Amino acid sequence: MKEDIFHAVYEAVLTRSERYDGLYYTGIVSTKIFCCPSCRSRIPKPENVRIYSDIEAARQAGFRPCKRCKPEISEPYGPDRRLVQNVTEIIRTRYHEPITLQLLGTDLHTSPYHLQRVYKQLTGITPAQMLLQTRMNTAKRMLVETTLSITEVALKIGFSSPSYFSSTFQTYTGITPSTYKQQKEFQNEA
Ligand SMILES: [Zn+2]
Repeated sequence: MKEDIFHAVYEAVLTRSERYDGLYYTGIVSTKIFCCPSCRSRIPKPENVRIYSDIEAARQAGFRPCKRCKPEISEPYGPDRRLVQNVTEIIRTRYHEPITLQLLGTDLHTSPYHLQRVYKQLTGITPAQMLLQTRMNTAKRMLVETTLSITEVALKIGFSSPSYFSSTFQTYTGITPSTYKQQKEFQNEA
């Protein structure tokens, strides 16, 4: 890798610029993770940074994709990736709200149809599936880590009906929320 390219990309890392996202990837030697230059994670020292112009090269050099900036879904369209990240961020922080495609579209100033198509294309799932996944994973955690009742968990993750929550949970995981809670408690005691 040419010196000047290294400096330009490292400059983007320092300033969290998106200029080289999708064009170059930064392999972090100390963590064995590769990122988009604009990644919001801790800024690596220059001597720990390797620059790659494609994902395969970074993987072959032994780096795993960063869970934060998700470089593997970054190429080649910057704006699409940002849209996906924004949708995921809204779902991650507001999963307990009645999120719809319409609402996402309004919030992100784009059409629901476009948003759905781009999201599915880059992540393999729809925003609705991501919302369900986030809610179910949060419910699992609450059932195990808190003393909240099943009704309380249902309300906290955005289900107004506890019975609808229970049947959705069962469809998603194969067991009821109460069985899930009991099994985990048993495992923890064993
Ligand atoms: Zn990253």
